[in-house]
Amino acid sequence: MQTLFTEQQLKIPAIADSNQILRKCVHCGFCLATCPTYQLLGDELDSPRGRIYLIKDMLENNRSPTKKVVKHIDRCLSCLSCMTTCPADVNYMHLVDHARRHIEKHYRRPLFDRALRALLAIILPRPSLFKLMVHLSHTSKAIHWLLPKRLKVMTDMVQTIKVKQNILSKNYYTANKNTTARVGLLAGCVQQAIDNNINQATIQLLTRLGCDVFLLKNTSCCGAIEHHLGKAAQTEKRIKNNVKNWTRLIDAQGLDKIIINASGCGTMVKDYAYLLRDDNTLSAEASLISAKTMDITEFVAQCDVNKLSFRPNKTLTVAYHSACSMQHGQQITSQPIDLLEKFGFQVKTIPEGHMCCGSAGTYNLLQPELAGQLGRRKADNIKTVKADIVATGNLGCMTQMQTYLDLPIVHTVELLDWASGGTKPIALIK
Ligand code: SF4
Ligand code: SF4
Repeated sequence: MQTLFTEQQLKIPAIADSNQILRKCVHCGFCLATCPTYQLLGDELDSPRGRIYLIKDMLENNRSPTKKVVKHIDRCLSCLSCMTTCPADVNYMHLVDHARRHIEKHYRRPLFDRALRALLAIILPRPSLFKLMVHLSHTSKAIHWLLPKRLKVMTDMVQTIKVKQNILSKNYYTANKNTTARVGLLAGCVQQAIDNNINQATIQLLTRLGCDVFLLKNTSCCGAIEHHLGKAAQTEKRIKNNVKNWTRLIDAQGLDKIIINASGCGTMVKDYAYLLRDDNTLSAEASLISAKTMDITEFVAQCDVNKLSFRPNKTLTVAYHSACSMQHGQQITSQPIDLLEKFGFQVKTIPEGHMCCGSAGTYNLLQPELAGQLGRRKADNIKTVKADIVATGNLGCMTQMQTYLDLPIVHTVELLDWASGGTKPIALIK
């Protein structure tokens, strides 16, 4: 694609990067076939190629975004399905992230939208505040009908969340036998607030595999929530803090890897190297952290799992849902399925497996109608395979799918832990 940025504009690193990305696009339109919003709405402007044109025009002309541009960019899930499909290696993720920052800086949203987005950026990364929000939405059911429609949709969604008791008592867990690796585990923000069973299963499996596990608990949020809301300053502050704190822990404890069990966070942390590429003091540390980061299934697939004692459960069939951030964001596709089969489960592939379930970070709260259509479509596809359980590697997808599906939904690591001597996932206890 031809671009017309001025020399002056190209001196700005973010513009120079977006220029490179735009120039790779050959307009072929292959990405339209796998874009969920284009599939639902059939409008070119709700496709990756259409959005690329909108972003190009907005950045090249240094325009304040129009309402129309904002509508189509906001409707993008950042599912990155288009990146998997693109034959020209267009990094749509970095381009749309740039567009979101530009919109946040130059566009004045209606008051309600501004307040809602600010509230999400404050509450979600803070486990105790998020827990309080879930609690309030449960206790305010009686006055629920008084809320404005968009807030009502949001509280409906939050009310489906059941907070599970916090069961993590320590910040450090030692390997069951000889230590073969020392790893840091990101406890997550929303995950830490509502479902620490996932972290517990992860720790049990890792210690059984010979890992000493250090919880990255104090800096719980990876920054993805603020990043996807286009809040540049907050994101930068958070990821710099994380890089400093984690680097201290890596140095002090000699950590070999950083393990992440929410694929949305994994995609974000693996991108720290890019996000801090121009930072004179932290770029090397950020690169090291990105290089050390692995999804839990990616890590376990490299371990010697044959030393575990399996309790295979061939009778349970598992529909595996690959989160977008797992398959498109990190290109992790075979490892979770191979592990589930190796650990004794029968795995079923879901039709339209490349399509987003509609969770997409805060998308199901900000775009509830489109997210609802995608959630129902995902649930219908899952029902066709007639599985006993659904497994996935991202808490956001678990919460979204639970709204539309009457089946137990577990994290992949909960099944791996259970099959190798751990506790039965709570979702499977009747
Ligand atoms: S990220 Fe997803 S929703 Fe956005 S343009 Fe790409 S495929 Fe479409
Ligand atoms: S598939 Fe890639 S090159 Fe083709 S239009 Fe989409 S983004 Fe551009």
